Amino acid sequence: MTQVLEILSLQEIDTELGSLRAKAADVEHRLEGDEELAASGTALAGADEALAALQKTQRRLEAEITDLGARIKREDDRLYGGTVTSVKELRSLQHEVDTFRTNHAQLQEQLFEVLSGLETATEAQATAAREVTSLKARWEAQSAALREEAVRLQSAQTRAEANRIAQTPKLEPANLRLYESLRTRRGSPVVVRVTGAMCTGCRVSIPDGLRRQLLSSGRLSQCPNCERILTVG
Ligand SMILES: [Zn+2]
Repeated sequence: MTQVLEILSLQEIDTELGSLRAKAADVEHRLEGDEELAASGTALAGADEALAALQKTQRRLEAEITDLGARIKREDDRLYGGTVTSVKELRSLQHEVDTFRTNHAQLQEQLFEVLSGLETATEAQATAAREVTSLKARWEAQSAALREEAVRLQSAQTRAEANRIAQTPKLEPANLRLYESLRTRRGSPVVVRVTGAMCTGCRVSIPDGLRRQLLSSGRLSQCPNCERILTVG
């Protein structure tokens, strides 16, 4: 095999390695977590918090309503029990009971609003919890597939690396150095085809003499413009 073909083989291995490494990095990145699942977890925490706050308000209002109800009953008993006879005191008691009743009604109204809010919040919390469960199941399946893909990519990479180790000695040391240097400076591909009279690496025409030399000798030649290794195959 000519040196150009050996370099081309090395380039193919390097292209494959580059693609495998990029895929592995992508899989690794995707394995870091599911953004939608994380967002649904945050939403569920918010829904839990809103529900707990409403339940706390419900308990407070219910306790206040019970207390106030007991006080109203006590004051009512005094008002109608016959133990208080002073008109002034009875009036004051009546006023107090009226105030308590107004407060009691206001508290019940507040409780009604809280209960209706609780209904909505309970539904929202259940929806958020279902979303988390479904996204968790999706993520478990996805991450299992991703882990399998990572293993597959790792073994493909190991194979390609072994191929590279086997291929490099087939290149003359000077050619290997040239290839590595061009790869660093120009990036991939280093070996480019000549189409018509044009270098496909830089799209500049190559001199006729060089083209004829390429066609006849198959010797390693570089594009005078971009320095890439030329092939006519
Ligand atoms: Zn060129």
